[in-house]
Amino acid sequence: MTAASPSADSKKNSPNRDDFVSKTRTALALRAGYRCSFYKCGIATAGPSDEASDKHISIGVAAHITAAAPGGERYDPDMTKEQRSSIENGIWLCQTHSRLIDVNPAAYPTSLLHQMKAEHENVIKLEMERMKSAPRCTDFIAIGPNIVFVGELVAVEENTWSFLLEHFVIGELWQLIGYIDGFGDLDSYDKFVLVNDLGDGRELSCPPAWSKSEKGTLIKVGVLGSFPRIDAHRLPMDLALSDEHDLFISNGQLARVSGVDSLPQKIKICLSTIRGEVFYAPTYGTRIREYSTEFLGSPWLPKLIKLETIRMASIPYSEQNGINAPSTPLKAVRKVISVVQISPEGDDGWFAFHFHLDVEGIGAWVREIKLFISRDL
Ligand SMILES: [Zn+2]
Repeated sequence: MTAASPSADSKKNSPNRDDFVSKTRTALALRAGYRCSFYKCGIATAGPSDEASDKHISIGVAAHITAAAPGGERYDPDMTKEQRSSIENGIWLCQTHSRLIDVNPAAYPTSLLHQMKAEHENVIKLEMERMKSAPRCTDFIAIGPNIVFVGELVAVEENTWSFLLEHFVIGELWQLIGYIDGFGDLDSYDKFVLVNDLGDGRELSCPPAWSKSEKGTLIKVGVLGSFPRIDAHRLPMDLALSDEHDLFISNGQLARVSGVDSLPQKIKICLSTIRGEVFYAPTYGTRIREYSTEFLGSPWLPKLIKLETIRMASIPYSEQNGINAPSTPLKAVRKVISVVQISPEGDDGWFAFHFHLDVEGIGAWVREIKLFISRDL
């Protein structure tokens, strides 16, 4: 257990543990608005007790991002005692989520916890600035290649998804109107909606519609059914790539890989392919390099990279020659739960990411995979 509750000042003062002092715990709780910082949780961690009118209860935990003691989850021996017990190494959580990050450390690396903490503090800050509670489930939504907005998913029906627009990130309302007007002439590969919050996307069945209501701008899109994915155990054979991203020889011939074992390199190759670089398939590939250059250092960048991963997982691509049936480029990936860049430092253009995906035939699947973005970043 790497956590201590704010009321537990007196317990667990083992010399090997770099615990938070009471002042740090209180500051963490206050900065989080005494609410859980876990993605989409936000539950109140302090409130009234039924025992007496002057009593209160707390279910908040000042959890360590890297463990307070050797053997704990995400323990980093290179950190000093001071760094380990500093507020930068803490995240305010409810008891359930504090436990979850400890029992499932592979799914919650330090980079993801730092991101959750920053996003939650930002939500609290926005609430205070706007004097109204921020909707909990706003996230990035893309409609076609040139429109990305922050919005709240207000309804998911079988054939229609509805969003309340908060503000545009890429594009503006007139571009959405242009997209609607020109819908009939669009390349079918550009008719899609992607929702970060769902980790999923769909092809559009008809032009989107928008209207003004007292709550704001409402956008409705007609969607096709989820495109079928391939069971990861049945992924076809490929030439295998080494850790140096090159072909290699095994038993006297080029090494091969198939099924579940081939999934990491499929993801690596697909997401490292830049839109426009494949001459026979100019619309294929991702915009991760473009976004990484344009939004370097911005809190938007991880969300845009997640959107691109969702697009490759959910929107089928058909080659122009039409020989192969359309398929989703990431084949077996059903949902993208999170994509987190592990370090801002690249290695000769390769950057490490932590992927948490939902995979057909497997379920939850976590893996660290390097993507080639650019040597110029
Ligand atoms: Zn929670």
